[in-house]
Amino acid sequence: MRFISTRSTDGSSFSASEAILKGLAPDGGLFIPDSIPHLDSVDLSKGSWWAMYEALKPYFEGDELESDLEDICRNAFSFPVPFHENGGKDYLELYYGPTAAFKDFGARFLAFSMEKLLEKRGENLTILVATSGDTGGAVASAFHNRAHLSVKVLFPEGRVAERQRRQLTGWDGNVESYEVSGSFDDCQRMVKEAFMDSSLSGLSSANSINLGRLLPQMAYYVYASSMYLAKYGKKPVFIIPSGNAGNATGAYWAKAMGAPIDSIVLAANANRPITDYLETGHYEPRPSVKTLANAMDVGAPSNIERLFAMFPDYDAFRANVSAYSVSDDEILRTIKEVYDESGYIICPHTACGERVRRAVVSAGNSVVVSTAHPAKFNEIVEPLIGSAVPIPESLYEIMQRPSKAKRISADYHNLF
Ligand SMILES: *Cc1c(COP(=O)(O)O)cnc(C)c1O
Repeated sequence: MRFISTRSTDGSSFSASEAILKGLAPDGGLFIPDSIPHLDSVDLSKGSWWAMYEALKPYFEGDELESDLEDICRNAFSFPVPFHENGGKDYLELYYGPTAAFKDFGARFLAFSMEKLLEKRGENLTILVATSGDTGGAVASAFHNRAHLSVKVLFPEGRVAERQRRQLTGWDGNVESYEVSGSFDDCQRMVKEAFMDSSLSGLSSANSINLGRLLPQMAYYVYASSMYLAKYGKKPVFIIPSGNAGNATGAYWAKAMGAPIDSIVLAANANRPITDYLETGHYEPRPSVKTLANAMDVGAPSNIERLFAMFPDYDAFRANVSAYSVSDDEILRTIKEVYDESGYIICPHTACGERVRRAVVSAGNSVVVSTAHPAKFNEIVEPLIGSAVPIPESLYEIMQRPSKAKRISADYHNLF
């Protein structure tokens, strides 16, 4: 199994492990499989992690991690992947990992994979991550206590929510948190400058575009669609709250492998580069706008390159991708509506998915992907439902840890 760059012109290819360690292809493109393998079915009797392992296996055929893959999956996917059943119009709850959002799947798979690869090589890496909120927490948690790896998390002082801050600073040992007096852009600039400083070595990133974060997102769609088919005898329509479209790209890869998926619908917030492309045939990245579903505030989705590689012209794109945009008012209304109808509590991102389902998906067989636990967005959700959102155990554990961060000025030399 080989991987190529979305910008490849010279035919050079890479193993999965090489792609995972490199992050970005040498030509600046993103790694994609040179052909998508076919999978007949997965064994659902051994738990979700096993089905995900079976889905990932073909991508690691002949790879140096092939014999470690089972262990990596068992360790990385050590939490449940349940459906909230709602008469076939179900929700897939991807938020039972340590930081209560779907990014735990990818961050943990990447961390355990990198640990194995570095162990084989006898090398060490320091991961630098600049965060405005969620990604940093998922990466810090995933890499905490992984051998051969350390993490430096940078976040802007006074600009992250208290619960997010806890997830960024509740670590010790190999994870250090830096509270930067500056903006998120300053944090990103510091990371870039550190990467360009040739006197520093052994630095790496854990970006969401890394193949090691994307493949697990393919794997849970194989598992979930197979479960849905087994339960209802029908293939589901997946409705996926999207920003950088990494989660959705995982679903398209799963469908291309033969997973029982009817179709895939993207639910965006007021950031609408993909919705506008579908409407106009003209793709134009733009600055992001701030919304209540802030993990989807993306004006230039990084995975668009992977989607264009799959669906290279407008007609192919339109035949396979649909996307709808949801306003902040609709997000608020949907959280309240769902709670009033059934007592079920959803986060603002999931609310985009549910609004799209109510507005445009007429099929009875649909699954809205719940990307985060509503307790992470209690400031938005609680006033709407008029009561406190119970905190999941994982978040509670992190919030009990002593909070530790070094306060530094916005100069990357302070990190070393
Ligand atoms: C990251 C994130 C998204 C968007 O996922 P993409 O892969 O960037 O499309 C949606 N919801 C939540 C809660 C997230 O953290």
